[in-house]
Amino acid sequence: MKNTDISILKRLSDWFSTETGPVAVIPHSNPDGDAIGSAYGLARVLKNAGMEAKVVTPNDFPEFLNWLSEEVEIINFMKNRHKAEAFLKSSSILVFVDFNEPRRLDDLEKMLESLKGKRLLIDHHPGPVDFCDLTISDPTSSSTAQLVYELIVALDWKHLIDKQVAEALFLGMMTDTGSFSYGTSDPGMYRALSSLVGLGIDTERIHSLVYDNFSAGRFRLMGYCLYHKMVILPEYRTAYISITANELKLFNFVPGDTEGFVNLPLSVRDVVFSALFIEKEKLVKTSFRSRGSFPVNSFSAAHFNGGGHRNAAGGESRQTLEQVIDQFTQLLPAYQHLLLSN
Ligand code: 5GP
Ligand code: MN
Repeated sequence: MKNTDISILKRLSDWFSTETGPVAVIPHSNPDGDAIGSAYGLARVLKNAGMEAKVVTPNDFPEFLNWLSEEVEIINFMKNRHKAEAFLKSSSILVFVDFNEPRRLDDLEKMLESLKGKRLLIDHHPGPVDFCDLTISDPTSSSTAQLVYELIVALDWKHLIDKQVAEALFLGMMTDTGSFSYGTSDPGMYRALSSLVGLGIDTERIHSLVYDNFSAGRFRLMGYCLYHKMVILPEYRTAYISITANELKLFNFVPGDTEGFVNLPLSVRDVVFSALFIEKEKLVKTSFRSRGSFPVNSFSAAHFNGGGHRNAAGGESRQTLEQVIDQFTQLLPAYQHLLLSN
């Protein structure tokens, strides 16, 4: 947790000791392991400190993340809107985790104006938008889960980390680093892991729950995408995969099934830039990954209403899938020098 002014910690301590209402912890829409793990871990520590804390997710999250114990309630805003709204409105503190702009709350964003609670953002994406009273942002951190761990320690709550908290924060660090394969050069991450693993959590079980827990449909879809849909453009060291809504239906798609597909082409020799385009109901969801210095976050921000990290970003487009593919391939010549010098 770099650059975290002592005055922020002091103010946060004051909030938590003087506010008497509930605390809502809110990850981004389509939450991944880091978003869910960070939110759950923090909410549970707050409960362990005697507060009423719940997680409110903007929408559903994939089945492979659905194994955390039910001791922390997770309210799904899309499925249970009245309950979520009532809880958010009654909350005196709102903690947003793992995203840098309110747009990533989807429909829940529209509610923000009506919420009175004090707001804290904890995130590791570059360039957070100023929508909270306090912002803890460290783009050099492996994950938001690592930041949550460091915040808990800084607030003198380390003794409140139990096995469930440790599992949730481990989940966040594991998933945001591709099982500790990238973004892992910060020694602070290993210190956090050492302390969490020291509580006796079963790390192999967590890995298996996340990565060996997919439907057969996902694997068939993956095979289909790699065989039929992966397009490699060697002159740009780029590959992309596009998936139509019909194809998703054909393979009985459920949320989470395409998780990680965008990374696959990066394992092809000489490919440094990979894109995934998925046709959704009203838009095309784009995902980008790179190896080395090619900044997919600024690429996504410039052309696909998105953002993210240098090597992992996403966005969306209101054009058709075909138009998105055309736009993407027509953009590549302008980036050829960067891609070839990468
Ligand atoms: P994914 O490709 O897994 O959906 O997203 C990768 C990363 O890109 C996320 O961790 C997030 O930082 C960022 N990202 C994904 N979608 C969006 C989006 O629509 N807008 C912005 N600003 N960032 C996104
Ligand atoms: Mn994250």
